[in-house]
Amino acid sequence: MTSDPMRSSGALIAAGLLSSDERPQIDAVAARYAVRITHDVASLIERDDARDPVARQYVPRGEELRDAPDELADPIGDQRWSPVQGVVHRYPDRALLMPIHACAVYCRFCFRRETVGPGKTALNRAQLAAALNYIRDHREIWEVILTGGDPLLLSPRRLRALIHALADIDHVAVIRIHSRVPMAATRRVTAELIEALACDKALWLAIHANHANEFGPAQRAAILRLARAGIPLVGQTVLLSGVNDNAAALENLFRVMVANRIKPYYLHHPDLARGTAHFRLDIAQGLALCEQLRGRVSGLCQPTYVLDIPGGFGKVPLTPGHATRAEGDGGWRIRDFTGNTHAYPPGCD
Ligand code: SF4
Repeated sequence: MTSDPMRSSGALIAAGLLSSDERPQIDAVAARYAVRITHDVASLIERDDARDPVARQYVPRGEELRDAPDELADPIGDQRWSPVQGVVHRYPDRALLMPIHACAVYCRFCFRRETVGPGKTALNRAQLAAALNYIRDHREIWEVILTGGDPLLLSPRRLRALIHALADIDHVAVIRIHSRVPMAATRRVTAELIEALACDKALWLAIHANHANEFGPAQRAAILRLARAGIPLVGQTVLLSGVNDNAAALENLFRVMVANRIKPYYLHHPDLARGTAHFRLDIAQGLALCEQLRGRVSGLCQPTYVLDIPGGFGKVPLTPGHATRAEGDGGWRIRDFTGNTHAYPPGCD
């Protein structure tokens, strides 16, 4: 296998990730949604396992050509909250800044699959200046979240300039970067890239991973380089049918994250992106899985299960209803992980 990323059905067939009779369908998928699989990712895939959880995240499937009735081109309503190109300002105190629309790999369930990929390039100089001016002009923006695309695909020089421009804005206290690079393009995590992230403001890195099998030796080493540089690491995960839709898979994933110094932050219910129905569970299944996790792992290993309400109405936590108001005495009934309930008194007036 070469170390070049795979972008076509032919390359995937040559690598043993697709059979040749799938080619016509996969070519149709690739014409619609970007395909890119790196050597880092391909080396983690078990070729003989048709249900391999890494392959399912990245290898295109014919099901992607089927749009379900409720699916949307912009499932979380980014456009509705975009005041200038590359900025989404949905909540008062934080804004997304999307400097680049390319990714190291293209996830088959991506909620921005219609806006990321080849030909959808970085903001140009003028657009980036306008985006930074917007953030400067809005003093309520306390946290800037760099997302995309994958911001860690920017060159260290451009990344350093961007981080410093944000850090120089007085009211921006926190910079958060969301990335798949430490999992999918480990050789990009160089001393130069890590140095580019150094600044006087708090900089957090949210690493996207959905299965314990994604943590191979190269990924663990890249994560360790980031952790040793003192960058706080959080994990974001998407709950995906056929990838991590059982308590054991989630337990293993969150344990491996914490053991690699990553605090699980969000477990996202999958968004209504087009052609992704084969990845979506019912919310009741997600709630049941969270309930099971409570009894299996410590709080350090528990992310918040969240839903981005379609249409741009923001994120809400989905909680398994542990506390219900008791009738009569104003107190609470607290349900523990075994299903037993316990009385808990009301607060003082
Ligand atoms: S890395 Fe993120 S933005 Fe890029 S394809 Fe995957 S989910 Fe989408």
